[in-house]
This record gives sequence, structure tokens and C-alpha cells, in this order.
Amino acid sequence: MIDSKQRVHGPSVLFTLALAVVGLCAPLQAEEAAEADVKVTISGNDTMQFDVKEFEVGVGQTVELTLKHTGALPKAAMGHNVVILKKEMALMDFAMKAVAAAATEYIPADLAENVLAHTKLIGGGEEDVITFVAPAEAGNYEFLCSFPGHFGLMKGIMIVK
Ligand code: ZN
Repeated sequence: MIDSKQRVHGPSVLFTLALAVVGLCAPLQAEEAAEADVKVTISGNDTMQFDVKEFEVGVGQTVELTLKHTGALPKAAMGHNVVILKKEMALMDFAMKAVAAAATEYIPADLAENVLAHTKLIGGGEEDVITFVAPAEAGNYEFLCSFPGHFGLMKGIMIVK
């Protein structure tokens, strides 16, 4: 019991420490690094829907992306992530290979270089926040949930201008 509790709390303690370190360092950095240029929130639900199918960012902007799972189903049954692909990666090809990548939360290790940014896989009631820098090249970048069978409904476009 105690052992499993420690295992659950270990990472969150580390995360809290990491946040504290970031918080301490932030004032020392340049102003633009402290705050994201643009914040985007995407919600996924228990019926495999993203509420955002398209969002716009500027070339080279720092993007803070929040994924919220507004459903109640667990990650194993209705897991969601947001995977933003580089232009050269076809969404269908990525989704097909992702099916076999359960061990790495449906991000195939050999396709990692084709991923611009991704959240972790989350279940009902959870959320994840990531920060990344938008590409220097303008254009449309596809995103999807790479959980098996979800990409048909759960996909969209990040427009970089
Ligand atoms: Zn999903």
C-alpha cells in the first residue's frame, strides 16, 4: 500500500520541483521566453471528438497547448493525445503505425522525428499542457489523436502564418 502510494506520488513531486525551478528561473530569462505567444486549448470527449478542428499560430511563436479530456472513460478505453505532425508525414501513415505503438503511448519511436509536438496520452478528467515553438515555415500542419481508431474523427489542422 505504502509502496504503491510512493510510486504514484514520486513523479508528481518531481514535477512540482521542476515547476518550482522553472518558476525561479523565469524572471532571469528574457520576457518573451516567460510567457507563451499564443495559448490553445483543445478538449476531447468520450465520443471521440475534439472541440477544435483548426487553430492558427504565427511562424516561430511559442505555443502553449492544453489538452483536456472532458469525458469519464479511462485512458485504456478512450485515451486521447494531440500529435502535431511535420509536413512530410502523412496523417494516415502515422495513424496506421501508431496502432502498434502501445508501449510508447501510440507515438511510434521510429517516427518520432516526424512529430512536431505531442501531449501525453490522457484519460477522462485529465489534462496535459505542452509548450513548443511553431515551425519557421508557414503552412498547414495536421494533428490527430493517435489512439487506435480515433484519427478518423479526432484530427485537425494547425495553420502557421
Ligand atoms: Zn483519442
